[in-house]
Amino acid sequence: MEPNLPRSDWNKILKDNFGIDNFRKSQEDIIQSIVSGNDTLVVLPTGGGKSLCYQFSALIMEGTALVVSPLISLMKDQSDALLKNNIPATFINSSLNSREQANRLHNLIDNKYKIVYFAPERLMNNTFIEALKQANISFIAVDEAHCISEWGQDFRPLYRKIPTIFNYIRRVPIAGFTATATPDVQKDMIINLEMKKPNVFLLGFKRDNLSFHTEECKNKPKRLISLYKSMKQGSMIVYAGTRKRTEEIASILQEDRINCKAYHAGLETAERKKIQEQFLNNDIDIIIATTAFGMGIDKPDVRIVANVYLPLTLEEYYQEAGRAGRDSLPSNCYLLYSKEDEKLQNYFIREQFSGITEFRRIYDSLYFLLDKQDEKTNFLHGKLVNYANLLNISEKKLLAILKVLQNKAILRFYEDEKVAYLRINTYLDNFNEIISKFNKERKIIMKRILEYKSNDSNQTIEVPIAKIGREINMTIEEIENHLHALEIFNLIDIEKSSVISGIKFLRPRLQNDQISSIFTEIKQRKKVSQNKVKIVREYASTEDCKERFIMEYFDNNSGYDDCGKCSSCLGNGHHSAKKTINKIRQSTFNLTQNLISAKQIQKDKTERKTDNQDVGNLNIIKSMLEDHKGLEEIAAKLQLTTPEVASFIEKEIEAGFVFPKFWFLDRSLLNNIYKIIKNAPYIRLSQIKEKLDSDISYPELRIAAAICRKELKSRMMYQK
Ligand SMILES: [Zn+2]
Repeated sequence: MEPNLPRSDWNKILKDNFGIDNFRKSQEDIIQSIVSGNDTLVVLPTGGGKSLCYQFSALIMEGTALVVSPLISLMKDQSDALLKNNIPATFINSSLNSREQANRLHNLIDNKYKIVYFAPERLMNNTFIEALKQANISFIAVDEAHCISEWGQDFRPLYRKIPTIFNYIRRVPIAGFTATATPDVQKDMIINLEMKKPNVFLLGFKRDNLSFHTEECKNKPKRLISLYKSMKQGSMIVYAGTRKRTEEIASILQEDRINCKAYHAGLETAERKKIQEQFLNNDIDIIIATTAFGMGIDKPDVRIVANVYLPLTLEEYYQEAGRAGRDSLPSNCYLLYSKEDEKLQNYFIREQFSGITEFRRIYDSLYFLLDKQDEKTNFLHGKLVNYANLLNISEKKLLAILKVLQNKAILRFYEDEKVAYLRINTYLDNFNEIISKFNKERKIIMKRILEYKSNDSNQTIEVPIAKIGREINMTIEEIENHLHALEIFNLIDIEKSSVISGIKFLRPRLQNDQISSIFTEIKQRKKVSQNKVKIVREYASTEDCKERFIMEYFDNNSGYDDCGKCSSCLGNGHHSAKKTINKIRQSTFNLTQNLISAKQIQKDKTERKTDNQDVGNLNIIKSMLEDHKGLEEIAAKLQLTTPEVASFIEKEIEAGFVFPKFWFLDRSLLNNIYKIIKNAPYIRLSQIKEKLDSDISYPELRIAAAICRKELKSRMMYQK
């Protein structure tokens, strides 16, 4: 293919190779970004057509695109689909025998593929790395890129290895794809994939059919009843923070002869399933649930989602509210809150982080016990409550500590967990073909089992069937039936299943400094959680447009208009001076900036050489500015680039360092930038530049923006 293929030819290629007539909105822009050599981050909901973006880019670029994907089971499907369209693609993973692997690596070196899929585990494999060195790589696409973030549920430590590819091959563009859009995860992806000035596409996130309302409310059940009565058709979901509250609200509503049910994790699986089905079949009108409800539920005609508690994060809120209006018809999302709800938020945070002070003692004691019990299996048998007694700590606190260690893949704990030990026969030729004929339920189970598969295909793996059951809403018996069916098809061999309680240690004992760093991280996480809670409270109370508040939180971008249909826009409440609105937005902005997280700061710290050197640089910059020297001269003196100098100055301004006047920035220009930033605190430099009638350079603009932000911040503090 031509490297600089005109865009007018794209549609023909799309039709010829993918059988599709037109690109969806924004797909073209994403492809343009990749093929022009930019790092690109794409946030697109599942089913939004993200794979076409990298497949098409791969096709029209020279060389081979590498696609990192976490799911071995999907690689074959994807590459088969491409082959069907005559696009040379393949995958390299542990399901292949070594001869076949070698064969494919040869072809890769011979430039015979446009796309090669692999799992991040491959990056530990020397033969694979050697092949990459000789291949002609066009770009790297990272699917499910949020797996790189520790903040999310799906953290996969090996994703952190991806940028190490560039120790061996030349730096090619890297494109990350995900459906997870929280700002800290976005930031984490950019940092950990080591992206350089990526173009960020956040798509399909805004839901135009939803209207957002917040109300401070004393009698919530009463308000729920009136909302219910105002609803003409469809159903309603109420989210209450605790099991107890779901039950309480349900009984009050039932007294009013409203057809509703409580739903929470304390109910038997069979009972929960029944309630779900009744809800889906419109046998009940309202479901009053904890967050346990909703995973995998896609009822199209939910007209109202009402939260009667304050969630811990705006992400969580938006996810729950987003269950309204899946059919694209107008729907409403209410947040009914009272001051009391803040106590519940505080309680959850205290619980989540309880035991931080005891962290080190507990970690050490557990290892001490392990040494005594059984070093070989690295398994500490017994119930958690026994260990809590033994270590003189409450069960809850112990659980909180174990969860942290489990998230860090340091250990795994079990409490009466039903576990199956089995081997997966992925070497079967018709493995995927058999699976493709299964019904949806069985497919899901197979997919979940494959997630526990290790790199060594012959190894026995441990599959926590009780845990999977809870997650996908199936009883243990149902899962076991499916497992036996899978065994009959010869896809798996079950060795045994048993119920276990205890702690399995996955890593050798940590050094003191490693424990300290985890401890520090927990403390930072606590701070981040507290900040996120503040954002939810601000969302509840802000008189600014609710929808715009949410969008700007996720998108870190301005340019969203007031929605005209939320409780603020409709003016339920008091209109306030623009000043107050700006103040709230600015403080949210600052919080979001704080969330840019300890990690970035840490990284900066290691990248900066020494504090002494910084002081030295500051003195040089200061005196050169006084001598009316320009950025380029300063950069040459410091042996840095001008953008590096600008970022350095920006950080120092943020940290409060007072520079002499930047003689090259004139006052009227600064005034204009100040006005722009005041109206849109999240605005990007490129957008400021667009609005200015000036040919200011980016490094200069970066400094100017930092000055204006600082000024804005100090004026706001003055106004308080
Ligand atoms: Zn609005």
